[in-house]
Amino acid sequence: MNVFLVETDKTGLQKFYEEIIGKFETYAPVEKFGKYDYKRISKLDECDPDSPIETTMSIKPLFFPKTAKVMKFKEDNTGTTISETDEDSLTGKRIILGVKHCDARGLQVLDQVYNWDYIDTDYQKRRGNTVIISTRCDKAGTQCFCTSLDYDVEKSDAHDIRIVNGLDGKIYIQAVTQKGEGFVKENISQQSAVGSQQSLEEIKKHYKSFEASFRLKMDYKEVNEKLQKLFDSPEFETVSSNCIGCNTCAFICPTCHCFKITDEKIKDTGVRYKSYDSCNNGYFTLMAGGHNPRPVKYRRWRQRALHKFVYYKERFGMNLCVGCGHCAISCPVNISIFDVVNQVAKV
Ligand code: SF4
Ligand code: SF4
Repeated sequence: MNVFLVETDKTGLQKFYEEIIGKFETYAPVEKFGKYDYKRISKLDECDPDSPIETTMSIKPLFFPKTAKVMKFKEDNTGTTISETDEDSLTGKRIILGVKHCDARGLQVLDQVYNWDYIDTDYQKRRGNTVIISTRCDKAGTQCFCTSLDYDVEKSDAHDIRIVNGLDGKIYIQAVTQKGEGFVKENISQQSAVGSQQSLEEIKKHYKSFEASFRLKMDYKEVNEKLQKLFDSPEFETVSSNCIGCNTCAFICPTCHCFKITDEKIKDTGVRYKSYDSCNNGYFTLMAGGHNPRPVKYRRWRQRALHKFVYYKERFGMNLCVGCGHCAISCPVNISIFDVVNQVAKV
């Protein structure tokens, strides 16, 4: 991991933010009725880069929109004419401030599937044109379990830049990717001091209580190995019995990527949309001939749990869950994927 460190303080950081917000299209956590979401901003006081850990949505919609026009079409007696849709508003050069580590990690997980059998060029453009600036978490939220999963939060290079605290009010702007380093060098004022090895030691001291602040912990390796042998476990029925199939968990998840294609047509003119979908939907696996291999909810929840904790890892070498806890916070019937996989693996 590349590390380039600039030492500053609260005022210096504010100045850095103000300057880059003035230059680039910027998104950041914005509060509304006590909830935070990533919105476009034009001034620093419109957002809170140190927002609480639990934003309602992740940054996923800025890369994979909830719904997007794929094309327009028009039919007449000579056939169907297809036209491109409006220009994608998410592919310009931009920055995202105040990103949580788990959200940034979610993009690394999505990168695997978007670089697989089909290369999604819109997604690639959005990724390539975005600089991700994270604020280092001080303390875990009640549903967080990222430190239990198969990556090292301390050494994460999922963001380009992270803002970290040192001792005595010092703040460090730490570039962790080449893209981040180039961005910081181009956009930081010349008076800022460049940090040293000693600064990294200070940062470690500031965050020494981070690991201990997690309420939720699991032995990921053990859970993963057990789940591989538990496809037929009756526990899947128990853990999914309260699910109302609302799909909230998938829509707010930083790594879920199922979508559906729908055509909406009035008379001879229509639009084709690509919109979020979920494997928790009863019709998701319904085939044209009427057969549905997952007609009951325990089978759909089994797919969700095993895809996240077994299958994706087998195919891409990383978990399809980053332990952000968004799903547990938003589920109307309090189902938590942490509890689901641990309860099934407990037998
Ligand atoms: S399944 Fe839940 S905890 Fe895991 S990444 Fe998705 S929202 Fe976060
Ligand atoms: S949010 Fe909860 S109720 Fe809704 S589909 Fe997910 S697990 Fe089921």
